[in-house]
Amino acid sequence: MSSSNKKSIALVAHDNKKQDLLDWVKFNKDILSENYLLGTGTTGSLLQEKTGLKIKKLQSGPLGGDLQMGSKISKGDIDILIFFWDPLEPQPHDPDIRALLRIVVVWNIPVACNRATADYIISSELMNSEYQKKMPNYSRYRNRLKEEI
Ligand code: PGA
Repeated sequence: MSSSNKKSIALVAHDNKKQDLLDWVKFNKDILSENYLLGTGTTGSLLQEKTGLKIKKLQSGPLGGDLQMGSKISKGDIDILIFFWDPLEPQPHDPDIRALLRIVVVWNIPVACNRATADYIISSELMNSEYQKKMPNYSRYRNRLKEEI
């Protein structure tokens, strides 16, 4: 894979989903190792420790890691989000989770919230090519008040 095809892949899992994500990462270790990886604090540490993959670690999710990830997405620094969130357990940082899941849609970022979707994304031939994603045009939104006031 040429360096221009490398993707920046963000990895997050809630506590009850960390084992699922670890299994997925182990299964896909070879292809993941050819890309840039980052994760929320605990997820990133666990995955690095158990797989030996190099993973840049942000804050732990409940301490702001999800928001840091959202900020990176807004800056264009993340290509793919793998986020195994827990549908059966309330989370203290639910507003941050919603913010992250919202901002991936705002910026047209592929996101996998379960293993089946993660499998589809990782096996896509787009993983090995330079994908020019269509950027939403927000100029009208940005200029909306100029026309109204
Ligand atoms: P963690 O955060 O990787 O620090 O556990 C994940 C999350 O809850 O968003």
